[in-house]
Amino acid sequence: MRVEILGSAAGGGFPQWNCNCRNCQSLRAGKPSFKSRTQTQVAVSADGSSWFLLNASPDLRMQIERTPVLQPRIGARDSPIAGVLLTSADIDQIAGLLSLRELQSFRVYCTSSLRRILQEDNSVFGMLNRVPEQVRWTEIELGERFSLLTSAREEDSGIDCEAFSVGNKYPLYVPPIRTTTLKPEEAVLGVMLTSASGARLAYLPAVPAINEALLRVLETADMILFDGTFWSNDELIQVQGSGATAREMGHVPVSGDDGTLQTLTGLRRPRKVFVHVNNTNPMLDESSAEYCQLAAAGWELAEDGCHFNL
Ligand SMILES: [Zn+2]
Repeated sequence: MRVEILGSAAGGGFPQWNCNCRNCQSLRAGKPSFKSRTQTQVAVSADGSSWFLLNASPDLRMQIERTPVLQPRIGARDSPIAGVLLTSADIDQIAGLLSLRELQSFRVYCTSSLRRILQEDNSVFGMLNRVPEQVRWTEIELGERFSLLTSAREEDSGIDCEAFSVGNKYPLYVPPIRTTTLKPEEAVLGVMLTSASGARLAYLPAVPAINEALLRVLETADMILFDGTFWSNDELIQVQGSGATAREMGHVPVSGDDGTLQTLTGLRRPRKVFVHVNNTNPMLDESSAEYCQLAAAGWELAEDGCHFNL
């Protein structure tokens, strides 16, 4: 399984357009220990021909143009992108779907709750279904394994997927009255992708809490791409003077006694990589003590353009 990291920042990217934090200032000033990052986007393929996007970043158009394997091959209209798998309805996970609207056929894999939010509540996504056989919406069930299908012949692509719940909070734009009609367990998902050879990739860009069941799932993976949004629980409050904590925003912080580094310290099998890193996170400075701490704990920090073979 080939894994391309097209983007590695949290919502807003790095730098963020309206942010003047120490990190964003340092990056704009050209300090060499900082790397710019687009909003998190991952693509996977078993055969190098059919590709699947894990969520759809607001930066998707630019990310495709930087990644030759995702570009048209033959004919007037073509795309190697066979499908998009959605783990939440957050804006930075779905906005890129609107960049895929040019009458191109592909499949969207999501829970029934996510499909209802996008298709029934937000008419702008109707542009994905202007003609029959444009976007095919495939509802997935938590805990049930399914195959990602190639676009041309609808064959098994060689990657199986299983989704599991990691959180129950829907995005703020979903009205409270609507959330009462949705399944809470479908709000925030993690996914485990398995190749025909048995290689396993766990993708969890947003993790509100870590429990024993999640740890057991992660121990079966060869690689985990994991929520690295915030270093500390009060990070945004420190930068802005007010706001929500990391946990209130649905992200376990990286540091602290109950943070990700500490909680996942016993995981032996998977290669551990942080994605979805917020521009305020001090570990984005590769000369920082925080960066040294994650490296010493055996973690890596994803960068735009890096790739892995599993
Ligand atoms: Zn910033």
